[in-house]
Amino acid sequence: MSNHYDVLGVSRDATTEEIKKAYRKLARKLHPDVNPGAEAADKFKQVSHAYEVLSDPQKRRIYDTTGNENGTDSGFGGGYSGAGFAFQDIFETFFGGTGTAGPATRMRRGQDALITVRIDLKDAVFGVNKKIEVDTAVVCPTCNGTCCREGTHPRTCDICGGSGQVQRAVRSILGQVMTAAPCGSCQGFGTIIPDPCNECNGEGRIRSRRSLTIKIPAGVATGTRIQLAGQGEAGPAGGPQGDLYVEIRVAPDRNFIREGDDLNATLTVPMTAAALGTTLNLETFDGEQELQLKPGTQSGEVITLRGLGVTHLRGYGRGDLKVHIHVETPSKLDAEQEELLRRLAQLRGEQLAEGKMASSGSGMFARLRDKLGNL
Ligand SMILES: [Zn+2]
Ligand SMILES: [Zn+2]
Repeated sequence: MSNHYDVLGVSRDATTEEIKKAYRKLARKLHPDVNPGAEAADKFKQVSHAYEVLSDPQKRRIYDTTGNENGTDSGFGGGYSGAGFAFQDIFETFFGGTGTAGPATRMRRGQDALITVRIDLKDAVFGVNKKIEVDTAVVCPTCNGTCCREGTHPRTCDICGGSGQVQRAVRSILGQVMTAAPCGSCQGFGTIIPDPCNECNGEGRIRSRRSLTIKIPAGVATGTRIQLAGQGEAGPAGGPQGDLYVEIRVAPDRNFIREGDDLNATLTVPMTAAALGTTLNLETFDGEQELQLKPGTQSGEVITLRGLGVTHLRGYGRGDLKVHIHVETPSKLDAEQEELLRRLAQLRGEQLAEGKMASSGSGMFARLRDKLGNL
């Protein structure tokens, strides 16, 4: 039995750094993945053991004074921790200690799902409970996410021994180094499912369509997303569900146009009603509302009905309903109607001269200037 110093090819007063260096060099050359064969494997064991003792100051001192590790053990035997220790050391030396990852788990969180729901403007004003159909992955009801046929279990992978990883020699600037790769036989899971569940093909989840009633709050707009935690896709192998996002689309309304939380409507009234004033009934989302048109209402005037707009999504209260008045000038007059209008114009002193129309005094230009402000 050669002594540990000879095995590593270093002198008795070698520094820890020299011992490490010697070990790395030999380990790269002798590792079973690089150098298969019984002889190399045997040497590799010796080298690893020698390093284990000499790299530990306390063990080294005992070895130096007694000629063996424990004061009793004269060579190989108890305390030998095997190749696992060596791998870890190589990883820590070369890759900063990343070589200790265990097998991957089949169970993963499911993805988030997104569905679009179309609602009417009225539903956006008041909110609505809406029944929706969702098509997502759900936990397999047959195997409950275990992926195994009833009465069977996953089996430890023979290839990687359950670690989920295999060691491979890779060429690098440091020479041959060992690196861990997911085991191809078990995809890194460390276990094999010998008898997969029929219903889900061993995935632990299946696609399923289900109905869900969701509460859509008042005030939502197109693009608003509602998050339903844990209602998304089930993860593989019984992994938790992702979230479900419901994106709102508000359908255009025939009568009302939304602007922020205000609603706008255009109301066309005959010239005579606008001139004389009247009371109208307007159908709103809050039912029929009485609208007072004062005598002399102009086209473009806005009558605001407070609090009949969209409910504020955040905070209290509602926007307004703005009714834009459009005065309709009569067309296609019969002879009698035309005569009446001419008579009216005459009585009001409004010139209807053939050719030119008066533009002096408080005429149209003055009023136009009022409207345009300080331009
Ligand atoms: Zn199943
Ligand atoms: Zn494996």
